[in-house]
Amino acid sequence: MDIHEYQAKEILSRFGVAVPEGALAYSPEQAAYRARELGGERWVVKAQVHAGGRGKAGGVKVCSSDREIEDASEGMFGAKLVTHQTGPEGKGVYRVYVEAAVPIDREIYLGFVLDRTTQRVMIVASGEGGMEIEDISADKPDSIVRAVIEPAVGLREFQCRQIAFKLGIDASLTQQLVRTLQGCYRAFTELDATMVEINPLVITGDNRVLALDAKMTFDDNALFRHPQISELRDKSQEDPRESRASDRGLSYVGLDGNIGCIVNGAGLAMATMDTIKLAGGEPANFLDIGGGATPERVAKAFRLVLSDQNVQAILVNIFAGINRCDWVAEGVVAAMKEVGVEVPVIVRLAGTNVEAGQKILAKSGLPIIRAGTLIEAAERAVAAWKSDLSQGTKIRAAS
Ligand code: GDP
Ligand code: MN
Repeated sequence: MDIHEYQAKEILSRFGVAVPEGALAYSPEQAAYRARELGGERWVVKAQVHAGGRGKAGGVKVCSSDREIEDASEGMFGAKLVTHQTGPEGKGVYRVYVEAAVPIDREIYLGFVLDRTTQRVMIVASGEGGMEIEDISADKPDSIVRAVIEPAVGLREFQCRQIAFKLGIDASLTQQLVRTLQGCYRAFTELDATMVEINPLVITGDNRVLALDAKMTFDDNALFRHPQISELRDKSQEDPRESRASDRGLSYVGLDGNIGCIVNGAGLAMATMDTIKLAGGEPANFLDIGGGATPERVAKAFRLVLSDQNVQAILVNIFAGINRCDWVAEGVVAAMKEVGVEVPVIVRLAGTNVEAGQKILAKSGLPIIRAGTLIEAAERAVAAWKSDLSQGTKIRAAS
């Protein structure tokens, strides 16, 4: 789960990371009011969306009057901010964060990530802040400093000092950097984060080390033990199809094609999507019903996939171990009868109770296209989708 910049800053500051003074606003007038409360002469208005790259996309504006703040936020509110991280559809802006502007001397990149190779939390830092880490690693790979943290002993002070040294930070600022690094690491581990990124971490003209931007991502599977973090979820920033699924305990990933996929297990989902592509189609999404799915759960999954306007065919691919093919078949039949499905439905079942499952499908009297293997299922799905599409065109052309 992602959170907003202002929320990440509030959390990190509780762990001792220094951040600029700031306040949240829900309207342009409130933004100007917040700036007056903060005092000073220059402010930065920042669109709060779950994506980086806001600066280049007009989502970060430095202002020096009420008027400028209102104009800047007026332009952000209600609009979709499109950055290189949001995709072309962009993300809605419903909150802006107003901060006291700070004079920047130097920008540093700082990230805490899970390194799969060492199975440890790793610090990634670079003196080339302000750029995205992808660009830094492409253009200035030598500037990247890494440190692996041993979980049993935590982040040691000498490691922090080493990083400060490698970044060429003045000795008088080392202690501030140590405090920042240790604060981030404690927040990361205590709150089950999977990523903490400060880009840029700045050194100000008056020698302070400040987190000017902050991003945190949390492990969804650990949210149950952090209710205060779960509360920060902002559905306006999520794909509505995915939020609806997660509310129902289903794992759903929205994609751009036309064939909806209902499968069990992420590995099978990957194989199913590859096979659809191989057969000349494009998946619209995949929905993982998980293990031991009841007919009700399968029906729920079916309704959810159907509610996606892009879906023009549905492929159900179940390799049942813990699952039962008869339950899956019951769920598919129940959902199709209830919803009145207008798109072709292709079902491939294998494993536990497959004969019983096939019988249920055959007896239902519904136009279900059955397949024995995955490649057969994918080819039939693509063929059915194409012929449905061309019929649709013919009807439209004739009327
Ligand atoms: P991002 O583009 O979404 O990563 O948004 P950031 O919060 O990183 O802001 C983008 C850029 O705006 C930063 O790299 C800074 O150069 C600039 N910026 C942000 N806040 C301030 C500030 O208080 N003062 C100044 N001078 N520049 C700022
Ligand atoms: Mn940034």
